[in-house]
Amino acid sequence: MKVITIDGPASSGKGTVARVIAERLGFHYLESGAIYRALGLWVHKNQVGDTPDVSRLLELIDSMRLEFRGGNVWLNSEDVTTLLREEFVGMLASKYSAIGEVRARLLQFQRDFAIAPGLVTDGRDMGSVVFPNADLKVFLTASAEKRAERRCKQLQQFDKSVTIGAILQDITVRDEQDSKRSVAPLSYDSSFRVLDNSELGVDETIDLILGWWSKLELDK
Ligand code: C5P
Repeated sequence: MKVITIDGPASSGKGTVARVIAERLGFHYLESGAIYRALGLWVHKNQVGDTPDVSRLLELIDSMRLEFRGGNVWLNSEDVTTLLREEFVGMLASKYSAIGEVRARLLQFQRDFAIAPGLVTDGRDMGSVVFPNADLKVFLTASAEKRAERRCKQLQQFDKSVTIGAILQDITVRDEQDSKRSVAPLSYDSSFRVLDNSELGVDETIDLILGWWSKLELDK
């Protein structure tokens, strides 16, 4: 099974890049962040307080019915695609995803997406934990300022009151939480190709990764 993983911090562009690469190669696409975001939203909707104990969280995971259909995400029959992008949902995702038992419970669910002809997936630990033997593992990053700038532009389409300062603050907190947690921290090793796209556009980033992929396929 062919698998390409694209890991990286918040707003590095990994989602856009992974989606297009999957389309170009005719592979399936899994946005693992949406799973953690859906969990954050599900916990929030169930009003179990800010810090539910782990057994309650695991129960909530088991009661979650998550479907990815036509580019949209459905949580227990509700289309939550737009809601999942909210900043507060991202913060909740970051909080609950730091718990080892939560990650373990979601592991097989993610691995089941690896079906023919192949999978492109993005997240924080797709190359390090979920698919350590992936054919191509990319770590996509950019400076926190650049990422805040991109995210701010995206959000301002819907809400003009969003400020870059507030976004930069959120991104910095989330980077810190995701990198310093003891379970599956955001990290890479020599088996990854690191790509800093601070000075690159989306198309250039995609072309670079597709170039790596073609070369790998040719060398086989
Ligand atoms: O990628 P996105 O910003 O949607 O992810 C939301 C949060 O979910 C991240 O900040 C991270 O804490 C968590 N996450 C994770 N592992 C993944 C994907 C996302 O811990 N593979």
